[in-house]
Amino acid sequence: MAGSSTAEKHFRFVVVGGGISGVTCAEQLAFQFPKEEVALLTAAPFVKTVTNLRQVSKTLEDFDVEEQPSTTLEEKYPNLKVIHSAVKGLHAKQHVLQTEDGHNVHYQKLCVCTGARPKVVIKENPHVLGIRDTDSAQEFQKQLSKAKRLLVIGNGGIALELVYEVEGCEVIWAIKDKAIGNKFFDAGAAQFLIPSLGVEKPEKTLPCKRARYTINKATKPKAAELGSALGPDWHQDIRLRGAEEISHNVHVEYECEIEAIHTQQDFMQSPCYTQNSDLGLWPVYAQLTSGKVYGCDFIVSATGVIPNSEPFLQGNNFELAEDRGLRVDEHMQTSEPDVYAAGDVCSAGWEPSPLWQQMRLWTQARQMGFYAARCIAAHELEEATELDFCFELFSHITKFFNYKVVLLGKFNAQGLGADHELLVRCTKGMEYVKVVLSRGRMVGAVLIGETDLEETFENLILNQMDLSSYGEELLNPDIDIEDYFD
Ligand code: FAD
Repeated sequence: MAGSSTAEKHFRFVVVGGGISGVTCAEQLAFQFPKEEVALLTAAPFVKTVTNLRQVSKTLEDFDVEEQPSTTLEEKYPNLKVIHSAVKGLHAKQHVLQTEDGHNVHYQKLCVCTGARPKVVIKENPHVLGIRDTDSAQEFQKQLSKAKRLLVIGNGGIALELVYEVEGCEVIWAIKDKAIGNKFFDAGAAQFLIPSLGVEKPEKTLPCKRARYTINKATKPKAAELGSALGPDWHQDIRLRGAEEISHNVHVEYECEIEAIHTQQDFMQSPCYTQNSDLGLWPVYAQLTSGKVYGCDFIVSATGVIPNSEPFLQGNNFELAEDRGLRVDEHMQTSEPDVYAAGDVCSAGWEPSPLWQQMRLWTQARQMGFYAARCIAAHELEEATELDFCFELFSHITKFFNYKVVLLGKFNAQGLGADHELLVRCTKGMEYVKVVLSRGRMVGAVLIGETDLEETFENLILNQMDLSSYGEELLNPDIDIEDYFD
């Protein structure tokens, strides 16, 4: 039960982080242990809750994310207490957390769900922005409204969304790969999507159905970098429009990275200026490894994330993955006793199913938070747990360039080497279907557009049926594949 002294607080269960993973974990613990007080410690003034969860198929799920004041959560679970304070340290042996505002929070079981922050290529440069939370998205919008040209670096989900959504501003998109979006799909799918960048965006006819909690100045987080990662459709209620009267104007610079960034003054004095004096006057200039130089109003760095594991490391023995994530085993336990981790801050350290991989996405944040709570409960009750079914098959549903995108299993033939073949069906502007086969069995798929194939393909991947005899017929549009394998 909770202690009452102001400096010392005692809880049986403590979860750190008010994002999707932390809130899911805390809710589940509060639900399973209604007589125990569960504490949710978070640096942000609001929490993220999952609403309208829809099970699209066995493993595919879609949901909305709402930012809510913590009172909503406390009203729903009277035994759940939200404490707004950032954690600055952990003494894992003593089972106590230290908060920025001077509290010691004692726990029996702890789950760390502190997410990740943008890996900004050039740090502390006022011309370079990373986008992660509501604050940084608002800063981006402010800078964009006055901008004529923007440079985006990175080739992941955030960059893909940004370059498509921004209007009224020229976008130079610098990627280090040969094709766009290679974290999610291959060059074929990239070719399918690229024309969308050259046409007018369809008018949004439907209002955004996701309710939002708007943060007023008084409740803004003190440390802006500690806010939760944005939820689905984060850009829908902010206007991503620059200062020009144009729709899309995106130019992709392939196979390059940033070599140097110069302010206007530096640039004019640099040797680079002599060859590039015709670039015009811009607040900042980016020199790319391809040799090209672009002047622009500002730069967005969307080059991945770094797990927020630092506050927990000093004085403890956490095993870290290469990406600085807290390594967890198949029970979401870290290498420190009674400390679990879930969501973006953790790195899956178990031997994964051949059809699953970790990706820092909100579906996995929710699944991990839920499963971590189940593991904590099972350990407390001395019951056995088995790895959740959701970790059998990687599945993700999202939208890119206004197309529905479903990714299943080893959708990019990850880790398969030469041991695979691909089947592709593509109708320009309509759909792109790619199937990854290994030894005659389906191990992954990319479905772009309204293909209606997700359930059938998910089943074929899960049951590992030998499909060798079907060959290319598998993607024959004249065959109703759903009926065929029924
Ligand atoms: P977070 O949501 O980041 O929550 C971390 C929480 O920990 C926050 O509440 C924070 O305040 C708190 N915290 C941090 N440090 C401390 C501390 N020291 N003390 C106390 N509290 C602390 N995923 C998708 O699946 N699809 C997408 O299209 C997609 N688009 C994205 C677009 C953007 C712009 C961004 C930034 C991310 C996107 N993601 C997307 C990724 C997705 O948002 C994350 O994977 C997911 O939100 C991670 O959830 P989390 O709970 O692990 O972490």
